[in-house]
Amino acid sequence: MSNRRIWVAGHRGMVGSALTRYLEARGDHVLKADRSVVDLRNQIAVEVWLKQNRPDAILFAAAKVGGIYANDTYPADFIYDNLAIETNIIHSAHAADVDRLVFLGSSCIYPKFAPQPIREDALLTGPLEPTNEWYAVAKIAGIKLCQAYRKQYNRRYISVMPCNLYGPNDNFDLQTSHVLPALIRKFHEAKKMGRSEVVVWGTGTPLREFLHVDDLARGVVFCLDNYDGYEHINCGAGSEISIRELAETVQRAVGYVGRLVFDTAKPDGTPRKIMDSSRLRALGWAPEISLEDGIAGAYRWFLANNEASREPELATAS
Ligand code: GDP
Repeated sequence: MSNRRIWVAGHRGMVGSALTRYLEARGDHVLKADRSVVDLRNQIAVEVWLKQNRPDAILFAAAKVGGIYANDTYPADFIYDNLAIETNIIHSAHAADVDRLVFLGSSCIYPKFAPQPIREDALLTGPLEPTNEWYAVAKIAGIKLCQAYRKQYNRRYISVMPCNLYGPNDNFDLQTSHVLPALIRKFHEAKKMGRSEVVVWGTGTPLREFLHVDDLARGVVFCLDNYDGYEHINCGAGSEISIRELAETVQRAVGYVGRLVFDTAKPDGTPRKIMDSSRLRALGWAPEISLEDGIAGAYRWFLANNEASREPELATAS
């Protein structure tokens, strides 16, 4: 039982809500700042709030996030919002004398053709994947901010890089979501409407690594308690799956019997993206939720929380 006061920045999102669930179950006190109270893009608002609340640590899960289409379509939002949020929170944490912070990045920080599985030291060794370079550049800046405040001020700010995530509170909007929630929704609606086929973007050949957000939440808090290094650290599931196999797995979980059609006019993105998470594994963290169980749980969550409020006719445009 611990009773630290921890600010989960971005507590309403998929990652932030998983962190909040996990910390509260352990007895930590989670501080939350709603958007109506603090706009994280506003430097003054963030600094005032942090100086007033002075948490023991910050788990930095606030970000503008989205799938391949959203990243490619709204580059200015992705780079500006994320850079602003990062400079505001990390600088203000220092100004408010908050000494512990865990910044969350993404596996898209790595070069498009990085050697696989991708080790932490592949950062900045080659060009990025163009569909999400705006987000990636902002996340790389976040890592560098943590390192700069550590180097100049001895702040114990660390960075954790998750692979592709999924779970409760995911975004199921087909235009802006990532692939896994999009597939859950597409198969569910096709089943419900009796459609004969489901469209999957790209060729189906890209390989991705999927981690349940509850496993990530344990990993992030594990890092807060057990890791204090200058270099960022990878947090991945350790196995990869093609988009076609993923689609077939989701199809089985949903119980849809129609055909898969691949829309090759849509981008594939980076061909392969599996991280080497052996550093974190060696420290003692390991994922616990299998992809099959996790997808079944995510589908149950979708049915309980998302489905009723959506209009299937509109939602299936892809
Ligand atoms: P990425 O890992 O940054 O590329 O992000 P995504 O999760 O958005 O996409 C992963 C892969 O899934 C890409 O190759 C997409 O083209 C593919 N994909 C297949 N169907 C879909 C879909 O309906 N939505 C999304 N977002 N991606 C899809």
